Amino acid sequence: MLKPLVQDKINQQINNEFYSSYSYLAMAAYCEHQQFQGCARWLRLQSQEEYAHAMRLYDFLSNRGGRVLLQIIRQPTTEFESLSAVFDAVLAQEQEVTAQIDSLYELAMEQKSFAALVELEWFIQEQVEEEKSAREIVHKFHLVGHDPASLLELDRQLGERTSSSDASSTSDR
Ligand code: MG
Repeated sequence: MLKPLVQDKINQQINNEFYSSYSYLAMAAYCEHQQFQGCARWLRLQSQEEYAHAMRLYDFLSNRGGRVLLQIIRQPTTEFESLSAVFDAVLAQEQEVTAQIDSLYELAMEQKSFAALVELEWFIQEQVEEEKSAREIVHKFHLVGHDPASLLELDRQLGERTSSSDASSTSDR
């Protein structure tokens, strides 16, 4: 059985992942309104990926005989100063999730919840990838600045993302 403290914190992380999904969807809506459909596509897929993260923890809790307790998802940020600011927010969000996962891992270690530790290792690796792809995109936005042609090209590249697990679709270009 899962330790109660670990179960509570996994439930909290399920909420954090759903919030993350909701927040990316709000960013996608902003980009769609600004007519940057490529960025919107990337963010919609990212939203789906975060939903899958929440469900992965949901399944873990359920498989361990724990109780999934869903909580209120807080309101995400809906307004941004620019496209570049959206992706600054993506990176900040991923860094925040990394800190949440690290703290959950630390608790699982203290509580000797070995199955949770193994499950969380997947999330730790995932966060390395998430931060890397976000950092690359932020860098590209900072390089292009306000040049409309370059922004359109970057939007086109981001729109090439094809799956929710392929956040770095533009990383090798
Ligand atoms: Mg996540």
